[in-house]
Amino acid sequence: MSGEVITRYANRAGAVVELHHQRFTTKTDYRGYYHDETSFELSGFNWRCLGCGVTGCSDIYKDRAYRDLDKARAGGQEHADACSALPPEEEQEEQRRRGLSAWVSGLLGGGS
Ligand SMILES: [Zn+2]
Repeated sequence: MSGEVITRYANRAGAVVELHHQRFTTKTDYRGYYHDETSFELSGFNWRCLGCGVTGCSDIYKDRAYRDLDKARAGGQEHADACSALPPEEEQEEQRRRGLSAWVSGLLGGGS
């Protein structure tokens, strides 16, 4: 379940890493204590790489998202810097089309 996108990073191959709001439930309270019978619903942050499909914080035994925006940002940025997965197929197609039309208008506008 993803929420509103806060910001986007580009990975090494041009795929997008989205940083977004995420509500999540956890059994760990703010002090880090685990509660067997109680769940807390929190609003936090997470990132998702549209290139390789990996999501950030997803510790099923603790929190499924980051509580702290700075940590979420750092995690997303770190992934973007390390990941070289290509953008999804349809996005590559779009980039190729744009590249081709730039090439064609370059030929037409060349004037020689
Ligand atoms: Zn990735």
